[in-house]
Amino acid sequence: MTLLYTSDPERGRIWREIFAAEAPGIGFVTPEEMGHPATIRYLAAWDPSADLLSQLTGLEVLFSVGAGVDQFDMSKLPSHVRLVRMIEPGITEGMVEYVCGAVLALHRNFIDYRIAQREHRWEPIDLVPAAARRIGVMGLGQLGQAVLKALRPFSFSLSAWSRSHHQLEGVSCHAGEAEMSTFLQSCDILICLVPLTIETRGILCRDTLSRLPRGAALINVGRGGHLVEQDLLSLLDEAHLSAAILDVTDPEPLPKGHPFWDHPRIMLTPHIASVTRADTAARALIANIRRHEAGEPMEGEVSRKRGY
Ligand code: NDP
Repeated sequence: MTLLYTSDPERGRIWREIFAAEAPGIGFVTPEEMGHPATIRYLAAWDPSADLLSQLTGLEVLFSVGAGVDQFDMSKLPSHVRLVRMIEPGITEGMVEYVCGAVLALHRNFIDYRIAQREHRWEPIDLVPAAARRIGVMGLGQLGQAVLKALRPFSFSLSAWSRSHHQLEGVSCHAGEAEMSTFLQSCDILICLVPLTIETRGILCRDTLSRLPRGAALINVGRGGHLVEQDLLSLLDEAHLSAAILDVTDPEPLPKGHPFWDHPRIMLTPHIASVTRADTAARALIANIRRHEAGEPMEGEVSRKRGY
């Protein structure tokens, strides 16, 4: 039973050690060590080439080394190959830290104070109690749920929106197109944590964002493809939106000269909200291979039909 690894070499070095110590029965190889491609049953990769995939005739499971799977061209994956995204505690912890930090920065007007500092203005802004600040999360999956749980102790008013109905303690949950307006109208801070699919591409557009209350702010930690950039810029210029914290853009890195770089009401980070942590991810992968070998469902298996 052999796993081919084609991603970051430093993480690969750590994974190799953990596989050798904790799962010696699973061969861990890089492309240079692969031998006959037909012997590979598992592939851990970010975006494998069509050429490589065509050689791996014995492939059973493709494991994404990241939480998303939007980088894969699913139409090029053989239909019998199962696709699994990365679910591991490091990714969740990183996202929780980032989103809580971003929510608190917006709640406490850090973007306005940064502008005021540049203009040498010493002007306190009236405090809004957390209970009066409405935070909404698009996407109630692995990460959306963890973020909402971490935000609960601050006493914010919490809501969420997803494709299917969920129930979550202390969170007003909405689902589908029919409940989207009600959700959006109750978000002073909107956090995007849906996967990028055919349905969600461009979801952060004028039609959606203009349904937020005037003065609302956006945190996009999903994917750059969710955002219609020009719509965000216009809504900021019209003061319908007050600020945006963006961890993702399309393309990445953001091109030189892009208007986001210097916009006073946009804060950018270079897709670092959360990163796959080598040790915890290796163990999550080993656990999933063992589930697959035992004929049990794997954690994070992607539905090709839904696209996530
Ligand atoms: P999950 O698959 O666990 O959850 C996805 C959620 O989005 C589900 O609640 C799902 O609804 C909802 N959803 C999907 N499609 C739609 C739709 N069309 N309309 C409404 N809701 C929808 O994903 P994760 O929580 O693990 O990750 C979310 C995304 O976060 C990743 O796909 C990735 O793009 C991004 N990410 C970004 C990182 C960064 O560093 N910036 C790091 C890690 C992830 P339902 O519950 O009904 O199925």
